[in-house]
Amino acid sequence: MENGLKQWRFKPRKDLSSASDVTVRGMLNKLHGAIDATDTRPTIYLGHGDPSQFSCFRTTPAAEDAIVDSLRSAKFNCYAPTVGILPARRAIAEYLSNNLPYKLSPDDVNLTSGCAQAIEVVLSALSQPGANILLPRPGFPTYESLAAFSNLEFRHFDLLSDKGWEIDLDAVEALADDNTVAMVIINPGNPCGNVFTYQHLQKVAETASRLGIMVISDEVYDRIAFGTNPFVPMGAFGTIVPVITLGSISKRWSVPGWRLGWLVITDPNGVLQKTKMVESIHGCLNISSDPATFTQGAIPKILEDTKEDFFKNILNTLRQASDICYEKIKDIDCLTCPHKPEGSMFVMVKINLSLLEDIDDDIDFCYKLVKEENVVFLPGITVGLKNWLRITFAVEPTSIEDGLERAKSFCQRHAKK
Ligand SMILES: *Cc1c(COP(=O)(O)O)cnc(C)c1O
Repeated sequence: MENGLKQWRFKPRKDLSSASDVTVRGMLNKLHGAIDATDTRPTIYLGHGDPSQFSCFRTTPAAEDAIVDSLRSAKFNCYAPTVGILPARRAIAEYLSNNLPYKLSPDDVNLTSGCAQAIEVVLSALSQPGANILLPRPGFPTYESLAAFSNLEFRHFDLLSDKGWEIDLDAVEALADDNTVAMVIINPGNPCGNVFTYQHLQKVAETASRLGIMVISDEVYDRIAFGTNPFVPMGAFGTIVPVITLGSISKRWSVPGWRLGWLVITDPNGVLQKTKMVESIHGCLNISSDPATFTQGAIPKILEDTKEDFFKNILNTLRQASDICYEKIKDIDCLTCPHKPEGSMFVMVKINLSLLEDIDDDIDFCYKLVKEENVVFLPGITVGLKNWLRITFAVEPTSIEDGLERAKSFCQRHAKK
């Protein structure tokens, strides 16, 4: 006892509290804290991708009814099995098989609490002393945080802005060694808004196969493609290389709060079964919590009853908003967008600092922008690219127009004379 103050033995984890500053959430919380309360214009949030708050992105009543019916049936008040209830797994197996050259079985499907938990489970299952994993840059920083949390070393390969954000496969080959276990791809892309071609995905599969590593394909933006490249699931190359496909209803149905995702073994040759990776994944699922059973109970109806029109309208809104975004950025001297977005809900934009007078970097840009114009962008550094910005266009199209108009005045005001 010192100064009469009791000495407790517990201590906070320093690595986690300091890591939160550079996460997307940590950074956005700080930027939101810098909003000038005396500015009477509405704040335009283009940093975080959650369209569910906008009426034009409201989920379909069919999905809401499915949840209500599931809850009211009183059949789903129980605990669910580790991998999820069979009708839900069967429905997801069918939904994903529609896009694949082979049929998935319900046993290939594991339900998780959103795609985020699927990431956590696959990284935990792969973690071994000395093992490493290859991650895209720019990317989705949850992978870095969760890999670090699992003591899994990570190395970055670049996505090439001048090649439509394709993967630098030479870098993948150069980075991999005998301890590399997997590479992660995100398609359609967050943060770049790109959609990989069939040919490129085939090369990814061949490269990974040569290296003896699996591909983890984050397809949380599954079928959210509105440009020329159609969405192709990585599982289509499952005969070349074992693939684990991650997804959820969060983005396509615009219900991130419902927390229903999946981890799917898209590996028709059964490599992951034979190498006991599936067992390791089940082991991790056994000690983690499940998505709410009534949400699982609603899945068959959500997938069956959602009309094509709902998806079409969402894609049209995203296409329209992304077109406005791309055109407006073209009109701002200090910003360049190397690749027109064609999927997901985001685009990466480069800041030409040499044209600006008093802006140090992307973080400084975002702080000054929020203070002066009440517009929030995400500094690129949080997704791995310094002096870039990530902008979401999953908002009302009028907001993106207004937000970029304000960004233009900001850039003009700070331009070198
Ligand atoms: C949103 C997102 C996730 C997390 O999805 P949830 O279903 O909300 O957990 C995972 N990966 C990427 C690339 C995302 O954008």
